Amino acid sequence: MTSDAFDVVIVGAGVIGHSIAYQLKNAEPSLNVAVLGDPMNSLMASRAAAGMLAPYCECDHADRFFRFCRESLDKFPSFIEELTGVSGVGIHLSMAGSLMPASSVGDQWDERLRFFREENIPHEVWPVSRVRSQLPDLAPDCGEVIWVGEGQVNNRQLHDALVTGSHRRGVQVFNKNATGFQRYSNRIHAAVTDSGEIRGKQFVVAAGSWSQQIGKVLEVSMPLKPIKGQMCRVSVEDGRLDFTIHGMNTYVAPWREGNGFVVGSTMEDRGFNSSVEADVIQGLINRASGILPCLKEAPLIESWTGLRPAAEDLMPIMGSSGRYDNLFYSTGHYRNGILQTPHQADYMTACLLGTLKDPITEFSPDRYDL
Ligand SMILES: Cc1cc2nc3c(=O)[nH]c(=O)nc-3n(C[C@H](O)[C@H](O)[C@H](O)COP(=O)(O)OP(=O)(O)OC[C@H]3O[C@@H](n4cnc5c(N)ncnc54)[C@H](O)[C@@H]3O)c2cc1C
Repeated sequence: MTSDAFDVVIVGAGVIGHSIAYQLKNAEPSLNVAVLGDPMNSLMASRAAAGMLAPYCECDHADRFFRFCRESLDKFPSFIEELTGVSGVGIHLSMAGSLMPASSVGDQWDERLRFFREENIPHEVWPVSRVRSQLPDLAPDCGEVIWVGEGQVNNRQLHDALVTGSHRRGVQVFNKNATGFQRYSNRIHAAVTDSGEIRGKQFVVAAGSWSQQIGKVLEVSMPLKPIKGQMCRVSVEDGRLDFTIHGMNTYVAPWREGNGFVVGSTMEDRGFNSSVEADVIQGLINRASGILPCLKEAPLIESWTGLRPAAEDLMPIMGSSGRYDNLFYSTGHYRNGILQTPHQADYMTACLLGTLKDPITEFSPDRYDL
């Protein structure tokens, strides 16, 4: 297989790669865009995530990363509406918000409230009386809770919709991994797969935790590694809880539509280890049961492992390469890649079209000499 040259070849078939392809075709329908990647990759973060859209509970200082995540949250409702229309795939999105029980927040309580107030983050403190009447399933010792105005999306449906949506917009999808690149001097000419080469004018590395390996092939040293997360989903009827719960070292995300609750997650620096350990999963359920006791007896539906792509400074790596004239990166989205998907897709589209007005230096590939 040797293709005619695509305008853009995106290496990576998760939410990041597909959302770039999808938005690029929207902005410039005449472009020939290709996405490469193994769709069955069982460790792919995009299908392993809980789908929390949580810039507020996950951040505690208002840096550029926080602002980027916040801007992405704001884009979610219209992004999902349009994507559903284009793809025909239903995507469950909830903007009901998140809860932080006092028993989990502990001595960070005042600090969290101060941050939410200072940053104008939508939030409320619900007294115990309201918690008991509105959230009878919460453990009695949870105390008051902070409600925070953020969201949650079914990330598997999001990924399905992006794959279908990009295909419908005319993106060519190759279910193949890149094993190498043809390059001369500071230009890349083709991605090499085991069944031939895919030629392109511009290339994007969007291969999540595997981006570092691609970097190696390109002779750049990318300080990025996988952070393993084990997670599970249990059967709990819809309506028991409408909010995502953030506890200390645990979270619970209702997936609704009869899909039960997702309980997460570990953070393990163990390379590409793919094991799912029954005792670890039980530990997650035990911890979460401290907040939501009905989880203790809830039937386990499935458990899994996924890999979060983490750069050394835990910031995304987005923008153009300083080493190759026609190479771009969008990787390192770590714990918040689902949340960052729409804004990242717009950012990378502008980057690829040469219309980006304000490159974010904190995210620049230049910081790692890439
Ligand atoms: C357990 C867990 C829970 C999470 N929870 C949340 C959450 O609640 N909210 C949130 O916002 N984020 C969450 N995340 C993070 C989020 O899932 C990731 O940041 C995001 O999915 C990264 O997407 P990606 O497309 O870059 O990577 P991936 O989804 O990992 O996709 C990488 C793609 O690259 C492909 N690839 C690899 N090698 C090659 C190659 N050589 N050639 C071509 N293609 C290749 C793979 O097959 C795959 O398609 C979670 C992650 C995990 C693991």
